[in-house]
Amino acid sequence: MDDCIFCKISSKQVPSKIVYEDDSVMAFYDIEPQAPVHIVIIPKKHIKSLDHIIEQDKNLVGYIFLCAKKIASELGLKNGYRIVNNCGKLGGQTVDHIHFHLLGGRQLQWPPG
Ligand code: AMP
Ligand code: ZN
Repeated sequence: MDDCIFCKISSKQVPSKIVYEDDSVMAFYDIEPQAPVHIVIIPKKHIKSLDHIIEQDKNLVGYIFLCAKKIASELGLKNGYRIVNNCGKLGGQTVDHIHFHLLGGRQLQWPPG
């Protein structure tokens, strides 16, 4: 998608602080961190939101969680962390390319705001 900021990040048209990358997934530091560790994990494939995944995306979405676990371990989040997906307007999604926030490094509260 030409006008998608996360597609531009995955194609390196826009710089980011990358923490993980392979053929299908990329992870980079969020520019407005909400916790001491705040990583955004995306599939390189442009999917608009969680509400737009289809049957053929199930391995990719599952694989993102394996990547999240690996990244959390590499960043030393041994006492826990949180994965967040904001979906759609009421879910608080601001970038229309599916992504998962990896948050850690402090005690996180529940419920979220
Ligand atoms: P959401 O509100 O769930 O759609 O999350 C979008 C996230 O992307 C926000 O936490 C933003 O701070 C983050 N973000 C937007 N643009 C960039 C960028 N160029 N590099 C890193 N993170 C970004
Ligand atoms: Zn995109």
